[in-house]
Amino acid sequence: MAIVDVVDVTKIYALGDVEVHALRGVSMSIDAGEFVAVMGSSGSGKSTLMNILGCLDKPTTGEFRLAGELVSKMDSDGLARMRNRTLGFVFQSFNLLSRTTALENVELPLLYADVPAAERHRRAREALGRVGLGERMDHHPNQLSGGQQQRVAIARALVNQPKLILADEPTGNLDSETSIEMMTLFQELWSAGITIILVTHEPDIAAFAGRVVDMKDGRVRFDRRQQPADAKAALVESRAQRGASGEPDSAVQEAPA
Ligand code: ADP
Ligand code: MG
Repeated sequence: MAIVDVVDVTKIYALGDVEVHALRGVSMSIDAGEFVAVMGSSGSGKSTLMNILGCLDKPTTGEFRLAGELVSKMDSDGLARMRNRTLGFVFQSFNLLSRTTALENVELPLLYADVPAAERHRRAREALGRVGLGERMDHHPNQLSGGQQQRVAIARALVNQPKLILADEPTGNLDSETSIEMMTLFQELWSAGITIILVTHEPDIAAFAGRVVDMKDGRVRFDRRQQPADAKAALVESRAQRGASGEPDSAVQEAPA
């Protein structure tokens, strides 16, 4: 079943008298359970596409269906409902609130969804456990490493049990080994059945996905499936190369039944 169905989508931004054609007719269908890396040089339309897939913006022309619903015809309330019910977002800059704890950051989407306090705490603790941060719930973002902050952001994206996670350059601010660690986490979420669409500049990161969509000048240049590299094995290799312990931590604990 396709979770994402994009048909001949265009996006034109009006900048004064100038029209910027950010997307020039993009079509793609993504099945539930896929892990897709979106690549392409700066300005090729990746973020514009992610904003549309994330129900943050609408196409100028063309159709977009998410989980079977025709998003491209929805009003802003409809878009907000789709975002809350179906999607989790992860950004390059983590976007955590600095004066609140990891736990409170993860609870935030549940606060917007009017989930009662006890249930919010329970679900946020569970999500933080799932990304390996069960011991760090009361830390503020500035007491956490970049990798740990991104794990908090991933827990926040997971707490509403989204069908689809959208990640725009989630490893862009992380060193290469921490980036691989983050990819072990995405691969574990993928194994758990979550659909993931992840934008990256780096071929080494795209190698961990099962499919690569390459954009150029607002069009899909190629779209192909591949045998994904194993992030856990890559992490062992990276640690061995710098002489560190070869055993990766288990990034993700099993979610309780
Ligand atoms: P990427 O994420 O691949 O770097 P973007 O989707 O951000 O590319 O941008 C695609 C094109 O659309 C670029 O030419 C960019 O300058 C333009 N663009 C993006 N957002 C806007 C906007 N809000 N207003 C005008 N032009 C924009
Ligand atoms: Mg971008």
